[in-house]
Amino acid sequence: MGSYAEKVMEDLKARYSYQPEFLQAVQEVLQSLQPILDTCKKYEEYKIVDRIVEPERTISFRVEWVDDKGQIQVNRGYRIQFNSAIGPYKGGLRLHPSVNMSILKFLGFEQIFKNSLTSLPIGGAKGGSDFDPKGKSDNEVMRFCQAFMNELFRHIGATIDVPAGDIGTGGREIGFLYGQFKKLTRSYEGVLTGKNLLFGGSLARTEATGYGAVYFAESMLADRKESLEGKVCTVSGAGNVATYCCEKLHAVGAKPVTVTDSRGMIYDPAGINVSILKQVKEVERASLTRYKELVPSAEYTAVKDYPDGMHKVWTVPCYAAFPCATQNELNAKDAEVLLKNGCKCVTEGANMPSTLDAVHAFVKAKIAYGPAKAANAGGVATSQLEMEQNAGMQSWTFDEVDGKLKKIMQNIFKNASSTAEEFGQKGNLVAGANIAGFRKVADAMIAQGVC
Ligand code: NDP
Repeated sequence: MGSYAEKVMEDLKARYSYQPEFLQAVQEVLQSLQPILDTCKKYEEYKIVDRIVEPERTISFRVEWVDDKGQIQVNRGYRIQFNSAIGPYKGGLRLHPSVNMSILKFLGFEQIFKNSLTSLPIGGAKGGSDFDPKGKSDNEVMRFCQAFMNELFRHIGATIDVPAGDIGTGGREIGFLYGQFKKLTRSYEGVLTGKNLLFGGSLARTEATGYGAVYFAESMLADRKESLEGKVCTVSGAGNVATYCCEKLHAVGAKPVTVTDSRGMIYDPAGINVSILKQVKEVERASLTRYKELVPSAEYTAVKDYPDGMHKVWTVPCYAAFPCATQNELNAKDAEVLLKNGCKCVTEGANMPSTLDAVHAFVKAKIAYGPAKAANAGGVATSQLEMEQNAGMQSWTFDEVDGKLKKIMQNIFKNASSTAEEFGQKGNLVAGANIAGFRKVADAMIAQGVC
């Protein structure tokens, strides 16, 4: 890191020492920006790095609701409107007990560059709450979502800020949030994406992040004259991204053999049965032990029974790995094991699933490594396609949306790859994605003045 970026990083560390995930995300980006900061001095002159690491607006609020026993519950709600230089704020809402400012600032910061890379006009944001939907009744989830929207509605709108789903926020939650927004504002607008098809949702949005990650992996591999066909793949997570990643892997002739949730891992050597996975996770909302009940030939390992807990998935030999669960789920030791076992491709469906050491190991090994902000951008890109359909009062066919998604993922790969080459880092998609995402936003910020 050069002196300008280093100074910003040091200031940030002093100011936000209690936000480790945010600092990690910034460090990863700043480390790769050096070539562009060296050649284009205007970014330092306009203090773009100092400005881009601070959210434009941070909203935090109390969320109070009543559970099924009549007890009052209190949660904390947030929305981080990070950067609107190239479009309205856009990014998901995470509902998980681990949610705090550090997690949401890391996610919002990443979202700026990811959204820029899609080449669509969308700014970066993230939000959520420390509410845990797990184990709650539908009525409790509804009351929470309504209470959350009672404050959030003041800050969002179809051309202001358009939230979407993320961990813990699926179609059910988006529906409850949308209903309350409509009630409070008397306006029927595309203010949330990931909506039900009955009220403005887009076909292929549910599938988009997982499918997009596979399209991205295919682009990386085609560039190396390789492919996923006939290859064994490992996938972590068992939620939205992991499920549709598995589905698309089957469709391209690969074999996904693992999925994980916070309690355990399934290894199914015959290939993950996606309709059973959907039944377990989308319909029954059960643990993966239920998959084992329905597919007795699969192996189940509980996190508590394995010394390295959730890391066991990375010991399964594979050609390609798809971390699709959560941040920092793949560390340097996991990277070493994956590489030793012959893994040739890592594609990140989750946000920041690899620690900085693991990222360095993949880049050094020169495998096909697709960093999250490029590889999982299919979700937000398709959200923007949903916004486009809402604005034009249209609904496109599944194939039309899926075709656009595939093209967007191929273009993101080309953009990251050619930018890496332009700055003397051929094959390094971490550098390529960060520089390409940064350049567009930074130039827009300069053109819009200091405001
Ligand atoms: P879901 O809530 O649908 O699924 C998350 C999955 O990961 C669940 O199986 C969950 O297990 C597991 N998980 C969560 N936390 C942990 C943990 N600490 N240890 C082990 N497993 C864990 O979320 P999504 O699939 O939507 O999101 C997954 C990742 O993809 C996140 O990083 C998200 O930010 C990212 N992403 C999502 C997009 C989208 O369109 N949904 C778009 C771009 C990125 P359990 O069920 O037991 O909690």
